[in-house]
Amino acid sequence: MIGGRSLLLRACGRHLSKVLRGAVNTQVSEIQASECMQHLSATFTRNKSTETPSSVSTNLDCKIMSETKEFPTLNKLGLLDKKHIQILDPGHVDHLLSTIIAGGFNKMQVIADHDRTLSRAHYNNEKTETCHGIMDNSPLMPPYYREEASKLLNKYYPIEVDPIMTEEEKTPHMVEWYGKIHTLLIKCGMSRTSIATMVKQSNVRLRDGTEDLFSKLKSKSVPVLVFSAGMGDILEEVLRHFNVYDDNVKVVSNFFEYDEQGNMIGFKGEIIHVFNKNENAVHESDYFKKIGGRNNVILLGDSLGDIKMAHGVPQPNNVLKIGFLNDKIEERMEMYKKNFDIVLVDDQTMEVCNRLIDLMMK
Ligand SMILES: [Mg+2]
Repeated sequence: MIGGRSLLLRACGRHLSKVLRGAVNTQVSEIQASECMQHLSATFTRNKSTETPSSVSTNLDCKIMSETKEFPTLNKLGLLDKKHIQILDPGHVDHLLSTIIAGGFNKMQVIADHDRTLSRAHYNNEKTETCHGIMDNSPLMPPYYREEASKLLNKYYPIEVDPIMTEEEKTPHMVEWYGKIHTLLIKCGMSRTSIATMVKQSNVRLRDGTEDLFSKLKSKSVPVLVFSAGMGDILEEVLRHFNVYDDNVKVVSNFFEYDEQGNMIGFKGEIIHVFNKNENAVHESDYFKKIGGRNNVILLGDSLGDIKMAHGVPQPNNVLKIGFLNDKIEERMEMYKKNFDIVLVDDQTMEVCNRLIDLMMK
């Protein structure tokens, strides 16, 4: 009760303060300010015995002024006091944001997970498909694949998201899971030509505003590294399908190996799973030269394992970790807030990233 009242006072006070400072000038704001005054007045009337309007108003104004002053970049980006935007350490995040903005596009790179990070977690009240899901639900796959893949998912996914187990404990299970899926896929006789159809028939969608974000990043030549423990061939097709696969985008994932007829016969290289995907994976490639000097990183992920994607970015670096918390919200909130700088709760958009890039473009 006390917490709720204090939040209301804070929000009303902030709005009034903006109006008084001339930061908000519209008629609507005056109406909202007047509503705030009514709320405040009612609250003060109920609590006359302990507080006076003038003393509380002064305290509120001081608090608002100090918060705006303390976190000017968060304030400019409109990231303060949004229920779905959780920030454990606003001071640190504000500093990080201002450093990244000051560095400009030439010092920046983006590292993003794909499934349920670039892609939405749900759409029209339906869970959307991951790269694995696109194959699992495709009519082009034999029914026994779905059955087997679903059994494996039920066994291993709870391990992947277990809040108690350590990564070291989880890793052998992940390797085992991927190995079994890969063997199964080879058995199914997957072909190169079926992938585009699978993607087209799926319900996969990118987060709202992803196309806009990628187009701005391309226009500023900002490299985007998309890391995925999923299926690289499917993922690339999704990016192509939504017209965001430009030459500034590099995908690191698990890629199929094909024979001359385009039939899948295996996988290339080492398995990338959720706990070993990090920038060390590109150190041997030409892409690493492309990102030289770009030590300001926007990292986007939806799994705690994703925070390691920036491992391998040369020091000193400034990594802003943005986490999309899509499910098991209450259970995971504390861990996400401890590990990601900004946690976006069931936010199926790229609005926060777009605001940051827009501010940099001004
Ligand atoms: Mg993901």
